[in-house]
Formats: sequence, C-alpha cells, structure tokens
Amino acid sequence: METNETYFDTLWRTTLGELEVEISKPNFITWFRDTSILGIEDRVLLIGVPNSFALEWLANKYRPQILRVLKKLLPDDNLQTIEFKIAAPGTVRASQPAADVVLPKAVTETAPAAIAHTTDATGAGGFALSPHYTFDSFIVGTHNRLAYAAGLAIASEPGRRHNPFVIYGGVGLGKTHLMQAIAQAILLKNPRTRVLYAPCERFANEFIQAIQTKRTETFKEKYRNVDVLLIDDIQFLSGKEGTQEEFFHTFNALHQSNRQIILTSDRMPQAIPELEDRLSSRFVWGMVTDIKSPDLETRAAILKQKCLDRGTELEADVIDLLARSFQSNIRELEGGLNQVLATCELENTQPTHAIVAQILKDRRPSRKAQVAINQVLSTISKHYHISSEEILGPRRNKEFVHPRQILMYLLRNELDYSYPKIGRELGKDHTTIMHGVEKIEKELAHNPVLQTEVTTVKELLYN
Ligand code: ADP
Ligand code: MG
Repeated sequence: METNETYFDTLWRTTLGELEVEISKPNFITWFRDTSILGIEDRVLLIGVPNSFALEWLANKYRPQILRVLKKLLPDDNLQTIEFKIAAPGTVRASQPAADVVLPKAVTETAPAAIAHTTDATGAGGFALSPHYTFDSFIVGTHNRLAYAAGLAIASEPGRRHNPFVIYGGVGLGKTHLMQAIAQAILLKNPRTRVLYAPCERFANEFIQAIQTKRTETFKEKYRNVDVLLIDDIQFLSGKEGTQEEFFHTFNALHQSNRQIILTSDRMPQAIPELEDRLSSRFVWGMVTDIKSPDLETRAAILKQKCLDRGTELEADVIDLLARSFQSNIRELEGGLNQVLATCELENTQPTHAIVAQILKDRRPSRKAQVAINQVLSTISKHYHISSEEILGPRRNKEFVHPRQILMYLLRNELDYSYPKIGRELGKDHTTIMHGVEKIEKELAHNPVLQTEVTTVKELLYN
C-alpha cells in the first residue's frame, strides 16, 4: 500500500468533507479542528476531540449530523451511535508520527471499555483495528516474506485467493499486525466492505453470552453477514466443543459464499490440541503460512521504523545493540526500545551505546528473578497439556520427554540454574540434565518450529 493514511483517516476526511458544506465556516473550524476517529467497536464509533469545549459542542449540537454522514459512508448496519473522547491531537494518526507511541495504543485499547455501557456484547457489527497496524509500518524480512506476499494478494482480491488464510507463529512476531493490515488495506480500497475483526476469545465469550441470553440468532447474523472475517488466536478454540461447533458453521457459511476468512494461531492448525479434525482440516484448505523470528538485519530495520514512528533516531551501534539483545520476539524488542527511550528521557541523557547497555543489563535479571521453578513447571504443563507429575515422572514417552527437556532448558537458560541444581530439583542425574539441555539447544539452532515453540512458552512464562 502506497499510502500513509489509515482507513479511519480516510473515513474521517470524507466525513468532514461532507459536513463542511453544511456547517458555517467559523463553526466548522472551531469545533472540528484536531478531531479524528479513534476507533469503532460494537457499532459505536469513537471520535477524538482536543478539549472539553469541543466535546460538549460536538456532542450536543452536531451529533446527529455527524452520525448521519458516517452512517452513509459505513457499510450497512456497522454503526449505531457515536461517542466523543478527549484525545491529544495527532496521537492516533498514523500519518503524523506521534511523539509518544504508548499513548495511541492506550487510547485505542481503552476506548471499547469506556463506551461499553452503551453496547451489548452480542450486538451486530463492530471492529477495532489499530491505526498502527498497517502495511506501511510493516517491515518485510525473510521471516515473514511469504505471509506478507499472501496478505497483499488477499488485500487486492479478498475472497478469491487463499481462503482461508492462516498465519501462524510464536508470540509477538507480527500476526495480529499483518492480519489487521490486510483488513485496513481492504477497507481503504472499498470502505463499504463489511469487515469483522475479533480475538477468538471474544468470539467464544460472545457465543456463550448469546446462548445465555437466548440471542444466538443475533450472534449468527453478526458473524455470518460479513465480507471479511478475521479471528485472532484460534488456538483458543482448543477444548471448547460448543464454540468449535459454532465456528464450524460460521466458517462454512462464509466459505461457501466466497467471503474471505483470515485466521491466526500460535501453532500449526494440526498442532492445536483438542481441535476437531473437521476444523483443522478446513483451516488448511487455503493458504497456511508461518511467521518466524526475524533475523538481525530485519530486527534493526524494525527498530528504525519504530524510532521513525516515535519521531526519534538512534545511532547505528545502539540499534545494533538493541537488535542483538532481543532475538525472538518483536514485542519484546519494541518494549526494550520503549524502555530505553523512556529511561533516557526521564534521566535526561542521550541513548549512547554505554548507557543503553547499562539499561539493558538492569532490565534482564529482574525479569528472570521474578520467575520461580514452579512457574516454569506450570507454564510447561499448560502449554503441552500434560500434568506436572507427568513432566517430572519417569516415563520415557516422547510426549513427556520433550516437555521435560524444555523444562531443563528453561531452568538452565532463563533461571541460570547449574546442571547439578536442576538435577536436584528434578530428582535426576546431572548428566541427564546436560544431555536434555544440549539436545534442545542443538535442535533450536536449525528448527524454526521449535524456536517458535520456545518463544511461546517463554512469553507465557513472563506474562
Ligand atoms: P503477534 O500477534 O504475532 O503476537 P503482533 O502483531 O501483536 O504479534 O506484533 C507485536 C508487535 O511487534 C506489534 O507492536 C507490531 O507492530 C510489531 N511488529 C511485528 N512484526 C512487525 C513487522 N514486520 N514490522 C513492524 N512491526 C512489527
Ligand atoms: Mg496477536
């Protein structure tokens, strides 16, 4: 996509264009200056305004007018009402790099909660796309090239190729970003497309609520009357039979009428435990691609892009240091950058190589110190769906041995335990521990699936 505008920018610009003709010029300039669309969720569109005066005026005087124009521009029934919220001008516009990028995220994330009282979770329509997750800000490297190419193809012809499109990979590698970028590109091209984005967890919760309130018809309508359905983190379907059944029918209804379905998962669909075969087999009908961990050059490019977003710049050696310090997870990489920038601002110092090295050094152990052995154990137990007793027990089946060795690996590498200490903790000989840790380390060097797996477990551990 060759544009810096987000879908919301375009929508708001068009809306203002129409309102401008209806409203006197002084009024228009006074009340609509520095306004923007913050997001839309459950059919409530949130407009950001610069101060409380503008908020009061717009809400009391211009609400019906604004709503009428927006209703005309948005796909059928995607909008029920509008709300206003004070937001610093420019903070959510991707086209104007914001000084503080933490803010816009907070704005888009708190928006739904702030307006939740006006909506009903099972109501129709609604999507909340982050204005930051566009193709423009998406750096392409060898780790995501294929997924990106497929994403572009889908954006240009939704529903015609690669249906469904499944993106899988470890935590913080850009699945949600890419998925939303596709959606925004589709909307930019055709704002009338009915796009619905939902984390899988929300799909599941809304479904349960719909059953409880006897409104399953409304639920069905919501998820089946769309042109593009995006469900994020479908591994969440694991073990949820009723939700799987409902998702199966949603999937079929959409697929049969050539509506685009885009899904993300933290692992290959076939590897999701307790997922019905009829679903996992359908998930591979279209295109399944993975996103791996980015290489050093790509991590550096991502850091440069994030600096650009924040309107700042870092020396090449500092970028290199950061890129080397966070290897497998882009969200952590970004977190590291944020921490460095924030610390330097707070202490009023320049982010030189030496200072950044110190900040990173302070950061690492604290994270590790917070985790204890039983947390590692319960994380592994949760991830692999086996009990702690099975992990620690003597059985040599592959499904137990592998998680057991991951446990050894994490205790050695994340908690810095010595081999004898791990041996004592797990009641095993220290040579067994060495063998286990080395086996994982060797395999990690060339097995991207295992890299993803370990990243996911680590992320679970620290979050
Ligand atoms: P996932 O859904 O895979 O857990 P996200 O899509 O939430 O990961 O990405 C985590 C963070 O990393 C986001 O802030 C996102 O913008 C950033 N990110 C991921 N991949 C890229 C990329 N290729 N280019 C730029 N930023 C990226
Ligand atoms: Mg995600």
